[in-house]
Amino acid sequence: MNIPSVSEKEDIVLSMIKNEEVERVGQRLCVQGCLCKDGECSSGECACCVLSVRAWAVRGRLPPAFPYHDPPMLFECNQTCACNANKCGNQSVTRMLRAGSLGARVAVFRTRGARGWGLRAARAVRRGQPLAAYCGELLPLPAADARRHDEYVFSLDVKPDLLEQCSERTALCVDARGWGSAARFANHSCAPNAAPVRVFCGARDLRRPHAVLYAAKHIRAGEEITFDYGDKFWSVKSKWMKCECGTPDCRYGEKSESDT
Ligand SMILES: [Zn+2]
Ligand SMILES: [Zn+2]
Ligand SMILES: [Zn+2]
Repeated sequence: MNIPSVSEKEDIVLSMIKNEEVERVGQRLCVQGCLCKDGECSSGECACCVLSVRAWAVRGRLPPAFPYHDPPMLFECNQTCACNANKCGNQSVTRMLRAGSLGARVAVFRTRGARGWGLRAARAVRRGQPLAAYCGELLPLPAADARRHDEYVFSLDVKPDLLEQCSERTALCVDARGWGSAARFANHSCAPNAAPVRVFCGARDLRRPHAVLYAAKHIRAGEEITFDYGDKFWSVKSKWMKCECGTPDCRYGEKSESDT
């Protein structure tokens, strides 16, 4: 199991929560936003950008050095911020979600192999651009684990020390089996061109970021969009299925024999 290490960002988040005014709305934990007056919120002067560990989007795209393999969580400006919502550059996913779940033109298609449906780019997408939010039914992790079909479950995987700060500590996940957005059709690849990033928009309930697929590379028109489902997924699934990504670096090309 891949347990990400504690990073600088979390220290900042934790100290924010301890030091700033914390407002509880039911189970929601809200953190005071930035104080940028009329600012564009795309610099280290903005408290929201600082929470995103120097990895905030500029003009809607993540920076070239963004660590897609272990992405920080992103904090977009919200109604508690002093900035001008029309000028703010730190609300690209918020705007995307207002219009639906897509940040790029995509199409669902039938793959040729054993992978069933897939998602592909209808137009070229530049690296760092948001592609699609993974939407579906929000439910506690134990409830998802108890479901017979879990192939569309996406764990929101908030890091344990962040979860500690919440009044309600059950981890949440999104199940897109019954209903969900186009992102659920994105297949796994061991050499993916997209990556999920957790993004907080609006209320900063630390248990429920939005899971947003970003282009981790330039993606050509017609190219399939894939992301790495992660070791946690495969530690369970590899007992009865193998990865069909067909890339030279495929890590799960064989079914695992053991039950551990
Ligand atoms: Zn700001
Ligand atoms: Zn802000
Ligand atoms: Zn802002």
